[in-house]
Amino acid sequence: MTSPRRSSETGASGASAPSARFGWLIDLDHTLFDREAVFAAWATWLDPTRSTELIELDQRLAWPAFDRAVAAGWPARFANAGAFRAHLQEQLPTFVPARPELADVLGSLPGPLGLLSNGSVTAQRAKLRRLGLESCFDAILISGELGVEKPDRAIFQRALAALGCDRGCMVGDDPVRDIAGARAAGLRTCWISWGRDWPGGPRPDLVVPRIERLPALCETVGWIRRANTSEVCERATVDST
Ligand SMILES: [Mg+2]
Repeated sequence: MTSPRRSSETGASGASAPSARFGWLIDLDHTLFDREAVFAAWATWLDPTRSTELIELDQRLAWPAFDRAVAAGWPARFANAGAFRAHLQEQLPTFVPARPELADVLGSLPGPLGLLSNGSVTAQRAKLRRLGLESCFDAILISGELGVEKPDRAIFQRALAALGCDRGCMVGDDPVRDIAGARAAGLRTCWISWGRDWPGGPRPDLVVPRIERLPALCETVGWIRRANTSEVCERATVDST
């Protein structure tokens, strides 16, 4: 499938619109798919009798404490935390669903589009393939191959540069890694809330419960102006939840 991304809107074709200086950076986990549902499916597959325990550990502990806890709790299955991490990176992506309907959602955002994700290249690429959305992006940036990760402001600037942009909007579910990090780097921000309340601190510019709602919200607040994508960064603070 050819990419829905369009050179004419980036100015590469010499169209009347100026170069698209405003780009979109899209998170992967729990932004393009329901990561909690995927994790629950994996946990049930691994150990149906203790899946709720795995889910609770995932919600309570961050890496690497989570890896150590699972390795300690399932010693017959995993020799150590490293073995568990290798298993998770290989197996979790296989539970990610295809989401071809998001191609239209992503394709309706004006300007270049980059995937910006923390994690290992192998696992994150596998998830993106499962989603069927690889061709939707002009650039794919994964922290595992960049040596820097969200919320470090440097990764946002590198991602914008990869798109040929100097401004942009980060779309993601994590209030710290995606939203606070991007805000510190000078980007607009859109939080995928999944119905949650904003936890506090400076609010994102936009809030949507699911990424499917983003294009309509952008139209509402005037962020999408196809004749001149440089106007997309007009100030707006909107919560559609
Ligand atoms: Mg995420």
